[in-house]
Amino acid sequence: MSIQLTQISKNYGEQKAVNQISFSAKKGEVVGFLGPNGAGKSTTMKILTGFIKPTEGSVLVNDVDVVVNPIEAQKNIGYLPEHNPLYLDMYVKEYLQFSAAIHKIDLSKIDEAIEKVGLEKEAHKKIGQLSKGYRQRVGLAGAILHNPDVLILDEPTTGLDPNQLVEIRQLIKELGKDKTVLFSTHIMQEVEAVCDRVIIINKGEIVVDKQLKELKESNKQVITVGFDYKIEEQFLQRLPNVDSIKNNYDNSWTITFVSKEDMRPKLFDFAQEHGLKILELNSENKNLESLFRELTQ
Ligand code: ADP
Repeated sequence: MSIQLTQISKNYGEQKAVNQISFSAKKGEVVGFLGPNGAGKSTTMKILTGFIKPTEGSVLVNDVDVVVNPIEAQKNIGYLPEHNPLYLDMYVKEYLQFSAAIHKIDLSKIDEAIEKVGLEKEAHKKIGQLSKGYRQRVGLAGAILHNPDVLILDEPTTGLDPNQLVEIRQLIKELGKDKTVLFSTHIMQEVEAVCDRVIIINKGEIVVDKQLKELKESNKQVITVGFDYKIEEQFLQRLPNVDSIKNNYDNSWTITFVSKEDMRPKLFDFAQEHGLKILELNSENKNLESLFRELTQ
């Protein structure tokens, strides 16, 4: 395992920021670390990267104990903190040379990192001239300079505009192909867009640790359907696995099913059997979000 946290707790005085959390992640996994503000995401990440020590528990990164041997462990960790401090007066390349020199990294790695994060055109600009999205790329380039196996990204998309969001998410996915990536966010859709797996933390405790696919399958399906003909709600109750039915307007209905099976074909068969035509059909999986809300309220 690239990352292994066992029974980690962190207390700040009386307050338990993180309480007995355990999880592991392996190479090639992009794990979304999701939770509302104050849930304990940053604290966990700082422990994982060796910046703060846990009150209890053990952390291994590539089998190196982060608490006992942080310098050695950090050779395998790239970390992008939440408010990544950058020197705005420095040129991109100059900043990366500076970072490389501090960490005794071969200067030849700089161009590689610049290329990986798509900063070629901006490499000769001052960091202060760059947009927030490009500044994040500079941060990411700095985090991968030493080609670490594990990348820890603390809210890397906060404050980005929609286009930058898509680009940075794509970049994280790309980097995740041959690394272990743990990235925190408080946005459920972000996890859906980037990750294979989600860990939800609330009030310092892990409440969900699942493959995204598994979570989606276990959820309710919400289908909006429009028929060509007026029907009664009671009639729709004959459909299998119905949880609830709502009339939107005229012949448009929103039906919630509890089923792992895709209910759209069933709905088509039902319509055909009863001589109805389907004029619109829209299936959505709102429930990851509602599950998140339920679990973190
Ligand atoms: P998140 O990253 O999920 O927003 P944090 O890990 O930053 O959450 O914080 C978890 C809890 O620990 C919060 O209640 C926060 O106020 C508290 N906390 C974090 N850092 C400190 C600190 N240095 N001193 C005291 N309390 C802290």
